[in-house]
Amino acid sequence: MIGDDIRAHMTQEAPRECCGVVIRVDGELVYVPCRNISDGENEFIMHPHDYAAAEDSGELCAIVHSHPNGTSELSPPDREALKYSSVDWLIVGQDGTITGYKCNQDHSEASDGDDNGGAVRSPSAEVRAEL
Ligand SMILES: [Zn+2]
Repeated sequence: MIGDDIRAHMTQEAPRECCGVVIRVDGELVYVPCRNISDGENEFIMHPHDYAAAEDSGELCAIVHSHPNGTSELSPPDREALKYSSVDWLIVGQDGTITGYKCNQDHSEASDGDDNGGAVRSPSAEVRAEL
């Protein structure tokens, strides 16, 4: 299960955030850990080579990172970044909960009245089933 792989990666990287991607290879979802090259403890920057290599080995389904000292809610910087993302996000919180956030394809401001940066809690059913 990719959920278990993501939780194990969070534990391994804590207290730093872990990051990675979920890709589809031959119809199977796989979690690919990437190096976090951020200097900060509460942010992540995916190593561009790791990200490119993962993208080349399958179809990109989701971007993943952890909040080893927090919940699986989006942080304010996460909200900003998600506006410019073209793939869905998964965040794992310290209690192991994984929440999915749908990317905002047209990069517009949230218009549904919720203060969620356009994020909708509905990762694809396929990804959800593997968490
Ligand atoms: Zn975050």
